[in-house]
Amino acid sequence: MSGVKREASEWRAIKGLTIAIDGPSGSGKGTVAKMLAEEIGLPVLDTGLLYRLCGFTAMERGVALDDEAAVAGVVDALLDGIVWTVDGVSLDGVNVTDSLRSEAVGAAASKVAAMPSVRQKLLGLQQQLSAQGCIMDGRDIGTVVLPDAPAKFFLAASVRERARRRWAQLKHQSDSSLDEVIEELKMRDQRDLERQHAPLKQASDAITIDSTTLRVEEVVDRMLGVLERRALIQAR
Ligand code: C5P
Repeated sequence: MSGVKREASEWRAIKGLTIAIDGPSGSGKGTVAKMLAEEIGLPVLDTGLLYRLCGFTAMERGVALDDEAAVAGVVDALLDGIVWTVDGVSLDGVNVTDSLRSEAVGAAASKVAAMPSVRQKLLGLQQQLSAQGCIMDGRDIGTVVLPDAPAKFFLAASVRERARRRWAQLKHQSDSSLDEVIEELKMRDQRDLERQHAPLKQASDAITIDSTTLRVEEVVDRMLGVLERRALIQAR
């Protein structure tokens, strides 16, 4: 999905609006959420960063990623020092977002994200921050974190297209071939879909948008159409 500069926005979100965007890795959630946020004036919170920070810290501290009690201990120790905002995630005052973007950290994140105690510890933080209104993207936002959000979207795209997007993003920092990225993505999909607790799942009231052949602007236009019909955005 490529980015094209759009005209100044005509829309403003109604007060306190929450929008859930879920979907698998590489479905374009982050890019779409940012553009939609600019259009309607809401902050975006990327929940994947929280799981990435937990996976990354567990790895750094040499904690086995299949030891739930030990990983939960790492998360407990982290919680006090985390500041999570639209600018990413900071730990003890340092913005660590850029160090969390690699595929290795994504894989570690999906392992710790399968642990119920880890998800439970991060749930309160997510719900607390949504209170003022936001666009939140992740895997279980429409089903678990914000089940009452008045607008929920589920972004889909073919595995090949998602891998191509990831590969293009990571090319400058990794030697992985496109085929390797496809395999890594399939493994991550499988873990996210098959885990017992809060798996990647479309909420029954979410609208699916398949972005395989759509540009970001087209996805955002569809979302704006839904929000307008539901009177969740107003003309400025
Ligand atoms: O979206 P991102 O690729 O940054 O997420 C990394 C991993 O964190 C995902 O593969 C998924 O396992 C986990 N995650 C989750 N629930 C969320 C957001 C991310 O389980 N709401």
